[in-house]
Amino acid sequence: MDRRTLLIGGTLLAAATLTRNAHARFKAAELTAEDSYFMDLAIAQAKEGDYPFGAVIVKEKRVLALGKNSSKRNGDPTAHAEMVAIRTFLAAREPDELKHTTLYASGEPCPMCMGAIIWCHIPRLVYAASIAELATKIGQIDITSQQIANATPFADIEIAGGLLSGNSLRLFDKG
Ligand SMILES: [Zn+2]
Repeated sequence: MDRRTLLIGGTLLAAATLTRNAHARFKAAELTAEDSYFMDLAIAQAKEGDYPFGAVIVKEKRVLALGKNSSKRNGDPTAHAEMVAIRTFLAAREPDELKHTTLYASGEPCPMCMGAIIWCHIPRLVYAASIAELATKIGQIDITSQQIANATPFADIEIAGGLLSGNSLRLFDKG
């Protein structure tokens, strides 16, 4: 490779990196001490779900909505824990309030729930078990929350995964 090729290669590489960053809406969330407490609540919800998935929406350290998978009891396959928590929140509050919340999910949100989280402009997501981990237990659509965030040019979201994932995954081994 001569010097010119290297320069062109370097320029192309830099341009590709810039383009990627311009569309990267995902940011890694930093975990706090409270995150484990609220994830415990999400996992407690999961224990009561039709399938072991739970979610909690928190604003300024206050729990504002809970959700557990209710797809069987509601006769509604879209009644995933995150959807139930969002609908519970919106039944009592204005959608603008979601812009200042964290959603805790015992399992990484599926594309439907992640789409809802983004449309609601929830700015922070913390999940326990990843889609790859969940796929070893139950069918999953193989698209991560980070991929969806990065494909969304109009919203930013901080995401942290893996918090207490063992506790979440263990629920699939019972019964
Ligand atoms: Zn879902």
